[in-house]
Amino acid sequence: MKNIIVQCLFCGSIAIGFWTVLLAYFHYNQENRQLKTTHEPPRARSLEENVYRQNHVSEKTPKRNIINDKIDFSDPEFYKGFVQYGLNVVISRRLGIQREVPDSRDKICRQKHYPFNLPTASIIICFYNEEFNTLMRTVSSVMNLTPNHFLEEIILVDDMSDIDDLKEKLDYQLELFREKIKLIRNKKREGLIRSRMIGASRASGDILVFLDSHCEVNRVWLEPLLDAIAKNHKMVVCPLIDAIDDITLNYTASPLVRGAFDWNLIFRWDNVFSYELDGPEGQSKPIRSPAMAGGIFAIDRHYFNELGQYDKEMDLWGGENVELSLRIWMCGGQLFIIPCSRVGHISKIQNFNNAALKKALSWNLLRVVHTWLDEYKDNFFLQRPSLKYVSYGNITERVELRKRLGCKSFQWYLDNIFPELEPFIRTDEKEWNHFH
Ligand code: UDP
Ligand code: MN
Repeated sequence: MKNIIVQCLFCGSIAIGFWTVLLAYFHYNQENRQLKTTHEPPRARSLEENVYRQNHVSEKTPKRNIINDKIDFSDPEFYKGFVQYGLNVVISRRLGIQREVPDSRDKICRQKHYPFNLPTASIIICFYNEEFNTLMRTVSSVMNLTPNHFLEEIILVDDMSDIDDLKEKLDYQLELFREKIKLIRNKKREGLIRSRMIGASRASGDILVFLDSHCEVNRVWLEPLLDAIAKNHKMVVCPLIDAIDDITLNYTASPLVRGAFDWNLIFRWDNVFSYELDGPEGQSKPIRSPAMAGGIFAIDRHYFNELGQYDKEMDLWGGENVELSLRIWMCGGQLFIIPCSRVGHISKIQNFNNAALKKALSWNLLRVVHTWLDEYKDNFFLQRPSLKYVSYGNITERVELRKRLGCKSFQWYLDNIFPELEPFIRTDEKEWNHFH
């Protein structure tokens, strides 16, 4: 009897321990999620609601695109997959390598027609340890929803993933799409920024379109982007990024937003001024954006080279989006969000406890600050005083690029493109460090 009681107590405490760890993990994630810089704007409303309101139910909307099953958070497969991939692998595996997502475009967009004769596109998708089905849904959505004559190729850059599924199994699966796909395997981990440059250097389409490896494109997603660039080759364009939930994988339409950032140079979404939506084009009108989220955009290939691609000394991840945004605006280009082009993206929780990622982000941001912020540098250092004397490598090449391109000052950018950048709000650096 005594033995049984002891055993019960023992099992009970293990069970309590397990649940405490699990709950603490999801609580932490939930908190982080609120602070995380996401690629997609805050959710406006569920897609079903959107479809209902606009009375636009498409006959083609599949029944399986929203899975309403209860999520079993105690399922070890879910737990292990979430820690490894940052999304619900149980549902991802169930959805498989392709699905149809609901059409999230405004009704004005659905009536638009685009020329048959547009430039061709090379789609560049870099991935590092992405969940197999998620990566495949990115590829299959592009294959299924892009007119063949606009699609030059899809270039996949494997940034030295070490997951078995992404080796022979991926090669085999990609064979099915054969001639349109190029797979490049990096010999060492290069990080997102250099991987994109590697992809771009192998591209031959007129336009480069960068996508993350956990996206699903929507209907007629590419044509509005190509059309905008065809009219002005110095125009860099982003689709409106819809949200794919990391737990349910439901696809949700996003509201109209523009890209912005604070003095810590961390990207955030911002409201669009109502006057920008005046006129007959309404919700379909391109939105002038001070910054881009970074993962998903299209740019003329020659213009990308002319503009100096990326800063190849930037590591792993982060900061490159703000750098490119400043460079586009200050050096004679333009940056717009095109609401008629919709691409879904799964926002994962970045593991900022990872020291390498944190270090790379600070290094990258410092390179942006010292190259582009002129007399406004100190506004950044007031936010991040501990970075003031930290090394950021050699930026001579980027400073020379700025001169060669005849770029305008940061003051000009503030006056003309982003006057709403708050003069100064100080956040506690300890708090910043906690989450980044
Ligand atoms: N990525 C990569 N190498 C890295 C880090 C990221 O190729 O060292 C890829 C990643 O798989 C993804 C894209 O770069 O396809 C953007 O990364 P992530 O989605 O983590 O960034 P976020 O969307 O959170 O900005
Ligand atoms: Mn992403």
